[in-house]
Amino acid sequence: MDATFLIIGAGPAGLLAALSAAQRHPARGVLVLDRMPAPGAKLAVSGGGRGNLSHLSTEEEFAAAFGRHGRFAIPAFRSLTPDALRERLAGIGIPTTVDPAGRIYPRSQSAAQVRDALFAAATRLGVRFLFNHAVERLQPPGNPDAPWMVDSFSARSILIAAGGRSAPRLGSDGSGFALAQSIGYDLVLPVPALTSLRTAEKWPAGHSGLSLSNVEISIEGSRAREATEQGEILFTHRGISGPAVLNLSGRVARRLLQNREIRVVLNWAGKIPDMQQLRQDAGARPIYVWLARQVPRAFAGTLLELAGIPPDLTFSRLSAAQEKELARHLVALPLTITGTGGFDDSMATAGGVSLKQVDPATLEGRLTPRLYFAGEILDLDAPTGGWNLHWAFCSGHLAGSGAAH
Ligand SMILES: Cc1cc2nc3c(=O)[nH]c(=O)nc-3n(C[C@H](O)[C@H](O)[C@H](O)COP(=O)(O)OP(=O)(O)OC[C@H]3O[C@@H](n4cnc5c(N)ncnc54)[C@H](O)[C@@H]3O)c2cc1C
Repeated sequence: MDATFLIIGAGPAGLLAALSAAQRHPARGVLVLDRMPAPGAKLAVSGGGRGNLSHLSTEEEFAAAFGRHGRFAIPAFRSLTPDALRERLAGIGIPTTVDPAGRIYPRSQSAAQVRDALFAAATRLGVRFLFNHAVERLQPPGNPDAPWMVDSFSARSILIAAGGRSAPRLGSDGSGFALAQSIGYDLVLPVPALTSLRTAEKWPAGHSGLSLSNVEISIEGSRAREATEQGEILFTHRGISGPAVLNLSGRVARRLLQNREIRVVLNWAGKIPDMQQLRQDAGARPIYVWLARQVPRAFAGTLLELAGIPPDLTFSRLSAAQEKELARHLVALPLTITGTGGFDDSMATAGGVSLKQVDPATLEGRLTPRLYFAGEILDLDAPTGGWNLHWAFCSGHLAGSGAAH
């Protein structure tokens, strides 16, 4: 047999799995195959190169970050909590820091250094790596004693940690999904997440580079809390981006599968101001002057144009219909989303191997023996903040620890 445990993918999930397997059972052969020339290409550029590795949180907070199916992630989280990950990283020469929002970064601010340290630690423990090898074929064992065949390699147990489809230039081209499907696993159709959104309206392009903080963005007509995000938004030459938009994008992308366009609304003002009060206090002043104190001048002009209100109109001459339109453009500014930045521009994949067919306690597939899944290949994704990398690390750890038995 070529390996006791064969791992497909040397991303953060595969690297942690290799380390944990080799640490628990040093004598057993761990072999990692990756289609790229080096490990962890995505990890090395994560967080703008600074590597937002994890997020200090309880298991409930962690599960909540992953939305509806978040509880699936709890056993993996328990197997490697953020504190345990920090200790583990410190043990291989990567001390970490936590920012005020709870985000964990390497103290060196270098994600590439984290990648290098994980790779070096696994190599020291005897893990073998084969790069530039894209796995194309899986053959399950024909009987309880038979090995898995992975292309021409044989192994007692295997882990698919091949990532999703986002940023394929960094290795994860979706071929892991095809491998899982080839042996009977179902996919929740993958869509890009943590990506920018394109708008039918052209006016955002005119404000490209402008960001507004503390904006609430919601999918129109949906009351679910799931359809709303809050934070900074950024206007771009094609539409909108920024943390709040990125965090909502996977859910918008899924709805775009069924709809040519999706309407979202932006509440950038918080609440509707007391118009009566404004009439009293600033009745003779143009509305534009008041608005330009809340947002940059050019954007104030656009807002009034969209609301159909002449810039020199004063509060005292504002009609009831105009007042309603003004209020709408403050707390429910509509935008029509026609597309996303796509997988090339996305930082995560929403969808993936169906969680129904995987045991959360071990991450072993339910359809085939001795086959494990970890990381982004599974149907789990979270907002920005270090949650996705923590999931890759802890699921890799859980799968690697179990598979090596
Ligand atoms: C630009 C960018 C920045 C990000 N920043 C952050 C951040 O700061 N914090 C955070 O939490 N998350 C961040 N993410 C998301 C995070 O990087 C991913 O969630 C994480 O890398 C997923 O880990 P993984 O091991 O499951 O998959 P990947 O990291 O995608 O690794 C999968 C590996 O499998 C290999 N592979 C794929 N198919 C095959 C095959 N058929 N045969 C052999 N090998 C194969 C690939 O080459 C790759 O090396 C970022 C993502 C991007 C794109």
